[in-house]
Amino acid sequence: MSGREACNNCEGVAQRDFSNDKLQEGIGKAMERIGLEEAVKRLIGVSEPIEETQLLALEKGMGRVLAREYKAALPQPPFNRSPLDGYALRAEDTAGASKDRPAVLEVIDKIMAGMVSKKMVIPGTAVRLMTGAPVPDGTDCVVGQEDTDYGEKCVRVYRELKVHENMVDAGEDYQAGTVLMEKGERIDAAAAGILAGAGIGEVKVYRRLRVALFTTGDEVIEPGKGREAGKIYDSNRYLMWGRLKELGIEPVCWEHIGDEAKTAAERIAALISEVDMVLTTGGVSVGEKDIMHDVVSILNGDRLFWRVALKPGSPALAFCFQGKPVICLSGNPFGAFVTLEMIVRPVLAYMMREPLLAPERRQARVNGGFHKRSSVRRFIRGIYKDGCVVLPERGHASGVLFSMKRCNCLVDIPAGSEGLADGDEVAVWLLE
Ligand code: AMP
Ligand code: MG
Repeated sequence: MSGREACNNCEGVAQRDFSNDKLQEGIGKAMERIGLEEAVKRLIGVSEPIEETQLLALEKGMGRVLAREYKAALPQPPFNRSPLDGYALRAEDTAGASKDRPAVLEVIDKIMAGMVSKKMVIPGTAVRLMTGAPVPDGTDCVVGQEDTDYGEKCVRVYRELKVHENMVDAGEDYQAGTVLMEKGERIDAAAAGILAGAGIGEVKVYRRLRVALFTTGDEVIEPGKGREAGKIYDSNRYLMWGRLKELGIEPVCWEHIGDEAKTAAERIAALISEVDMVLTTGGVSVGEKDIMHDVVSILNGDRLFWRVALKPGSPALAFCFQGKPVICLSGNPFGAFVTLEMIVRPVLAYMMREPLLAPERRQARVNGGFHKRSSVRRFIRGIYKDGCVVLPERGHASGVLFSMKRCNCLVDIPAGSEGLADGDEVAVWLLE
């Protein structure tokens, strides 16, 4: 098929120069309008999981993925310890003890948490100790101070104790040799606490994924500046940047560029060696200012796809440039968000070696309705809770962002749907 024939089926692309082979090839592929899973697969095909690792102080490693396994060198806790303020003693010395007939023991030492008693406890003696202190050798239980007269030289114990009573055993939490964290696990607060508890102050982690983010559009201006007629403020840069940060990714740059293919190509070329992926928004459709097609040509990129069978954000385009994926999303904020979440996020998860970062699917019962037919798979916003998804009454258009507030999922409406009614079962993808 010639470029001209192709463009008859390809709407506004007709104004372009079809002499470029890459573009012809791209338009041929564009006719395919691939499915979401195929788009992800093609991107993963040109992406590499991060290999580079870093040794970081534990606190700097928060949120990062471990590049090695960590085992416990010691049991936790490392010694038998007292869970309360009282006296360590031998249970047999309290046989028959009561309020009226207390056992009377000599107090031979006093230790706080962090101290160790060097005294040997023999029959008839006890050690005064506080919560967290190691239970001394020779004792087999601890009596809480409430069951004594708080004696300093001699203590009266008002009840009988059982062997092992009120003693936290060494290894109660885990034994030496236990695998605390596996390679590939993310360091969250619990993991940081576990690693710190095992004395691990430095962690080997994969380096962060580096992404260059660009928004395009001559009409788009920086928030905080005065606005001229016809201009709009740049939502996408903040939306995309915010989401990348939430996913633990480092946006190396977040620039806005006008609708000039040459400048966009130059900026991408200038940054490609520093990043793992380039993300752009805007300029991917079929209008005269949809410059990203020309960017592919200028950079001589290998087009992976253009147009995905989903709404919103269908004109998403991707190409491989110097071995890295460049993913160009629609300029409509909700379209950009949906495709970031559904197309880009699984690729980020793969590159970050973190399968759990990929969006999570749930089944939900619809609360509300969505009265629109969908010939292609469509994603709309919703609020998921306890197996139900509440749909906003309005504000489903791809250029609308306000109704996204408080939404925590994308509802996956299959191709050919007549709409959603109250009580319908749907799949949702959590925005966690
Ligand atoms: P485009 O994909 O460039 O055709 O843009 C689609 C729509 O999204 C147009 O109405 C643009 O004005 C709007 N748009 C593009 N980029 C942004 C942005 N960074 N922030 C907010 N809206 C945008
Ligand atoms: Mg535009």
